[in-house]
Amino acid sequence: MALLQRTFLALSRAAWAQQAVMRWAFAARAAKRFVAGETLAQAVEAVRALNRRGVRATLDFLGESVTQRSEAWAAGDEYLRALDAIAHHGLIANVSLKLTQFGLDIDPQFCLENVRRVVARAQQLGNFVRVDMEDSARTQATLDLVRQLHAEFGNVGAVLQAYLYRTRDDLRALVEAGVRVRLCKGAYNEPPTVAFPRKADVDRNYAALIPIMLEQAARYPAEADGRVPPLAAFATHDARLVELVKAEAARRDLPREAFEFQMLYGVRPALQTQLVQQGFAVRAYVPYGTHWYPYFMRRLAERPANVWFFVRSVFAR
Ligand SMILES: Cc1cc2nc3c(=O)[nH]c(=O)nc-3n(C[C@H](O)[C@H](O)[C@H](O)COP(=O)(O)OP(=O)(O)OC[C@H]3O[C@@H](n4cnc5c(N)ncnc54)[C@H](O)[C@@H]3O)c2cc1C
Repeated sequence: MALLQRTFLALSRAAWAQQAVMRWAFAARAAKRFVAGETLAQAVEAVRALNRRGVRATLDFLGESVTQRSEAWAAGDEYLRALDAIAHHGLIANVSLKLTQFGLDIDPQFCLENVRRVVARAQQLGNFVRVDMEDSARTQATLDLVRQLHAEFGNVGAVLQAYLYRTRDDLRALVEAGVRVRLCKGAYNEPPTVAFPRKADVDRNYAALIPIMLEQAARYPAEADGRVPPLAAFATHDARLVELVKAEAARRDLPREAFEFQMLYGVRPALQTQLVQQGFAVRAYVPYGTHWYPYFMRRLAERPANVWFFVRSVFAR
């Protein structure tokens, strides 16, 4: 992993850096490229605009590493409001949440109860909850929770990261259980004992996992309304991997609705539109809220050009 990337990932976890950066108004301005707004109302508007362009959405109320039960429960309440807003406004969107925002580090049982009420509400509304994947110390606990709630409700899915050595086995197990999977490369600082240190190997592993994902997609028909995603979701902005998915799906004669591409709000919007025009399903990950700092730092870590974009915005103030 490049030094710049490691530095930004380390900063994403440093409280002192968070306090310093969040005080700068220009940093908040720069973060706006990746964040739909501070309020649910602003996020709803962003989703409406995406839906008009034929892009589905998944709403993320920003927050992670929560240490107070009251804060974790309040995050759950916000997700209930987000699900209600999606239904009320007729949006083509579901929600994505992080377990450390729901209290995983406080008490796993409390976290389970907190997520369960969100999944239950989503089920009542015909909607779906994606549990994001965080760092490798939480992988097993996250998969255990998803599998438990999947057995109870069905409408909850997982995320797997191609940089982890264990992901091939995890993917096979989730496919077997019929759990919906979003495959991404992985956004955290991981040691070489658990994750491929070289980006080329991560990309190669992602490519190797595509057929397993599509095998699952072929086994079950996709839902029609766009809120509940197909079984296979490919989260990447990597044009080469997007082409590989398309080629592999065509080789298997899969209908385009059998899988979807997922990209981040504000990242490669032209590619999102192009895929929609080609008839592929695309979902944008739409974060909102005031806790944008760690999310923003991970986006800076992903691409050196984003750092220059950030630096330019400092001087443009
Ligand atoms: C919908 C979605 C959900 C995700 N959920 C998770 C999750 O739950 N857990 C997790 O660990 N990670 C998650 N990620 C992040 C993911 O793991 C990667 O860190 C991120 O997507 C960058 O990898 P890439 O596949 O786009 O490929 P890369 O090889 O990093 O990028 C390919 C190309 O995409 C463009 N690009 C990529 N990132 C950016 C960016 N930030 N800004 C501008 N351009 C960019 C660039 O042109 C780059 O050359 C998610 C990503 C997406 C799209």
